[in-house]
Amino acid sequence: MRIDIMTLFPDTVNAVLHESIIGRAAKKGIVEINCVQIRDYTENKQCQVDDYPYGGGWGCVMMAQPLKSCLDDIMSTAKDRRSRVIYMSPQGKPYTQETAKRLKNDYDHLVLVCGHYEGIDERFIEACVDEEISIGDFVLTGGEIAAMAVADSVCRLVPGVLSDEECFTGESHWDGLLEYPQYTRPDVWEGRAVPEVLLNGDHAKVDEWRRQKSFERTMDKRPDMFEKFELSDKKDIALVEKIRKERSRLKLTEPVTYRQATADDIESIMLIVRQAKNYLRKNRVDQWQGEYPTEADFMKAIENGECYCAVYANRVAGLFCVTDTPEACYDEITDGKWRYDGKYCTVHRTAVEASFRGTGISDMIFGFCDEIAREKGAESIRVDTHRKNKAMHLLLKRAGYTYRGNVLVQSEPGHDPARHAFEKKL
Ligand code: SAH
Repeated sequence: MRIDIMTLFPDTVNAVLHESIIGRAAKKGIVEINCVQIRDYTENKQCQVDDYPYGGGWGCVMMAQPLKSCLDDIMSTAKDRRSRVIYMSPQGKPYTQETAKRLKNDYDHLVLVCGHYEGIDERFIEACVDEEISIGDFVLTGGEIAAMAVADSVCRLVPGVLSDEECFTGESHWDGLLEYPQYTRPDVWEGRAVPEVLLNGDHAKVDEWRRQKSFERTMDKRPDMFEKFELSDKKDIALVEKIRKERSRLKLTEPVTYRQATADDIESIMLIVRQAKNYLRKNRVDQWQGEYPTEADFMKAIENGECYCAVYANRVAGLFCVTDTPEACYDEITDGKWRYDGKYCTVHRTAVEASFRGTGISDMIFGFCDEIAREKGAESIRVDTHRKNKAMHLLLKRAGYTYRGNVLVQSEPGHDPARHAFEKKL
């Protein structure tokens, strides 16, 4: 892998990239990193690289000519290479480990262009740049730090740079998970002991523990990442189940049961609804942000025998509605289709009382819904939820639902009607 970094500050970049692991790899010739001074390619006496922006405004813009001459010079020595010219830019695609993998696999020559001041002349980007990369939604004064981040993360994937492939394949972001916690000597530090399992040399147990921690951390620290993680391996599915059980067992010491709600429950129900509305608002989910669901909606469901309570220690810990009346708005599904045409039940208005969040009650509620739907003779069960209700998406995935497409639910006039539709075979 050869990386050329076009910059006004080659010394800064060199100092960083010729240190430590990447520096050693460069010395061994496994990677080649060159910092090229853009200023050396100016054609004016003052060696000026930038000028005032046309149309006025603050700051200076880097001129296209020195950039192009610099790039031409680099390219003249890289004729047979699979090259990629990348402009480091806050307007680029956000950089991820996936990008690093792609750059390492698809190219053996990267040219990283570092802008400075207000940026660079747009015509250079149009004429010469293959892609733009951003290292995050913030603005740096120059592209050097971004280029160093890209060069470092790509180079460490090149065989021979790290001692073993495992050095990076087990790490955070490699397979969509965060890494497990790491410990080194001593085994007790300031009264804190290293987890026992890591000390007894049972490698299978260590692997299992690490996988579990990796799952737990991703669920807790990056639920967005965990949601995208493809849970297909049977062992992984069992592990998620184990984590869920462990977590719920921690708090709930008595069984959770369910029963049909009655008019006497309406106060508890409306309290849970208010809590859920707040929770959704805080999480910027435009669902339940109008009047819906009202006391009248619940009274009607109670009368129809379709509203249920999850009960823990005589408290209403959660609520949910299950109906076997087909949903008219499910007839029109876009970006996908339902898989089961037979009788189905729909789950509506699930919510748990705030103090029961994270106890696993929501998972149990979906288990109860399955039971109820089976009793009603349904072949499958359906749910819709707001497209941004990530917590619910995760919950549905755990409960065995599959995303089928999008539906429009008009229960809340003036609010976003777009819902993701999920289905599960019973
Ligand atoms: N005026 C520009 C910002 C220029 S910042 C704009 O608003 O889009 C100056 C230089 O810093 C840019 O040319 C770019 O090379 C670099 N830079 C700034 N933020 C960056 C980011 N998030 N990722 C990658 N490069 C960045």
